[in-house]
Amino acid sequence: MIKQKTIDEIMETARVEDVVEDFVNLKRRGVNLIGLCPFHNEKTPSFTVSPSKGIYKCFGCGEGGDALKFVMEHEQLSYPEGLRYLASKYGIEIEETEVSDEARAERQHQESLFLVNEFAKQFYQQQMFETDRGKSVALSYFKRRGFREEVIKKFGLGYAPAGKDTFTLTAVQKGYNADLLKQLGLTSQYGRDFFRDRVMFPIHNLSGKVIGFGGRILVKDVKAPKYVNTPETEVYNKSKVLYGAFHAKQAIRKLDECILVEGYTDVISLHQADVKNVVASSGTSLTVGQIGLIKRYTENIKILYDGDKAGVKAALRGLGLVLEQGLN
Ligand SMILES: [Zn+2]
Repeated sequence: MIKQKTIDEIMETARVEDVVEDFVNLKRRGVNLIGLCPFHNEKTPSFTVSPSKGIYKCFGCGEGGDALKFVMEHEQLSYPEGLRYLASKYGIEIEETEVSDEARAERQHQESLFLVNEFAKQFYQQQMFETDRGKSVALSYFKRRGFREEVIKKFGLGYAPAGKDTFTLTAVQKGYNADLLKQLGLTSQYGRDFFRDRVMFPIHNLSGKVIGFGGRILVKDVKAPKYVNTPETEVYNKSKVLYGAFHAKQAIRKLDECILVEGYTDVISLHQADVKNVVASSGTSLTVGQIGLIKRYTENIKILYDGDKAGVKAALRGLGLVLEQGLN
């Protein structure tokens, strides 16, 4: 837990106008600042920031609060995450109350799992952008699909090389623990790379940490499945994960609607076309847990699956599930 002393320091230091200005263009009007509201769509500004009172208020949609509330709402952060965000913005050192050794060890373990996944993501990116095969096979695949480089980078797309243990050897050589590689499903129990010769889609949690990967095969091979996903791990529970949620959550909230599509590439294509309130269930058909995740941001869901027989069937099943959970 963050100590009260630190919380006080953060709340005293944070200036609501600084915090808002990282996301919204503000113009001075009298003693206040005014801009276009980030929480609803508007053409004339009704979003007002009062530096003297330390608050913001939108006269269009009614959103309002202090600097902490703003980052929590805008970045969809929990209370401690919001405090950590502000502390890092202002360079405030966080003091925490004593936690048990067990809790600390658990947190360090989780952090190291995220670090290894982040390394893997960077490795796959580097393989795609900097090796001949990566460029000629993977990058060209994404380009053929019409993806622009900025969207390829935004979603962290990459390429897992064809060698049987290229990734694993590199990771171990760089000092990453071989056991963790196995726990994360990146390396098989025999020390082989789990993802080989596939284009890679990192899957992020709601805070933007990499929790797993989806890999799509490039060569037509009847024996291998078209897509493989990270197996269930401590940090990747596929029934509770939605691909694209990290990049979509603000737009879902702002538009009060979530569009559910079938595949990773559907999410990315729509994003590129500036439709950002889009997610896909990854490596599983829609689950109640995934609908619960959407419900945190909106009660309105649109299902946009393929028009083939399987797509229609999945859409009807999904609609039933969505209605059962009390969403529109
Ligand atoms: Zn508003």
